[in-house]
Amino acid sequence: MAAQTGKAMLAGVIGRPVGHSLSPALHEYWLKKYGIDGAYIPLDVPEGAFNDVLKTLSLLGFRGANVTIPYKEQAFAAVSGMDEMARISGAVNTLVRQENGNFYGKNTDIPGFLENLRTGDVAPEKLRHAAILGAGGAARGIAAGLAMAGCPEITLLNRTREKAEILAQTLMEKGVSAIFHIKDWEARTEILGGIDLLVNTTQLGMLGQMPLEIDLATLPAAAAVCDIVYNPLVTPLLKDAAARGHKTVEGLGMLLHQAVPGFEAWFGVKPEVTGELHDIIAAMIAPC
Ligand code: NAP
Repeated sequence: MAAQTGKAMLAGVIGRPVGHSLSPALHEYWLKKYGIDGAYIPLDVPEGAFNDVLKTLSLLGFRGANVTIPYKEQAFAAVSGMDEMARISGAVNTLVRQENGNFYGKNTDIPGFLENLRTGDVAPEKLRHAAILGAGGAARGIAAGLAMAGCPEITLLNRTREKAEILAQTLMEKGVSAIFHIKDWEARTEILGGIDLLVNTTQLGMLGQMPLEIDLATLPAAAAVCDIVYNPLVTPLLKDAAARGHKTVEGLGMLLHQAVPGFEAWFGVKPEVTGELHDIIAAMIAPC
């Protein structure tokens, strides 16, 4: 409705596919809540067209866009400036149009992850040793974010060990200071004794994927467990951790919190992540 005024502020999400993206519902909720004349549009961009689409969005006066798989690295290469989180992670998930028509790049997955931990009563700056399962795009940002928040020791475990080694090396070359330990994927149960946060960044445990096999018996009682997989909302890993009395942090919160800086930059209001918003988006993931 609002977009039909002809004056609506425009933003969207660029990806392929984007049909499954929850971001339009999230931003439309906030636009309505704050009475903003704006629209947030899913943009299914064909392979090879990313840079042309950016030019077109700029010409059309789009305030910016989110960028999702498979375009976060192309966005990193296309922007004319970027924040520290984007520089370190090598990925841009939020574009903000500047006055000259170029796009500035941000990585809001990292602050989104950290804010989600805080909301779950886990203070990243107090962590002593975190273990991250996986070494893909999400793990890279999460490892960087935890280190930058002050976690001094991080153990990385990935099915393809070499990728974890490259990840640690890349972060250190970019000036991220933490002690990185690389362990074999098979050692994931053995390393739990000395950590205070376990984060799953693989898709294991996601609906339709294989389960994550890990025995939490040796995880210290005070350690927290976070799973960035949000479908199901409460993954088998989180269920197991909660049953053993660990603090748990769901992945959906990361998705909600990463959206805040983009909305604020495009539409001028810092939106709130509320329980109501959580429940609306959760219902889209797991309809009753
Ligand atoms: P990605 O770059 O493709 O990385 C996938 C990771 O999972 C890799 O480390 C991969 O190991 C590992 N993996 C895949 N299949 C495996 C298996 N059978 N056994 C062991 N490890 C396996 O993906 P991503 O972008 O990092 O995303 C990962 C997950 O995080 C997805 O489920 C995504 O939906 C979720 N995510 C959530 C949020 C949020 O806001 N909550 C944000 C971003 C991502 P190899 O290197 O050995 O292949």
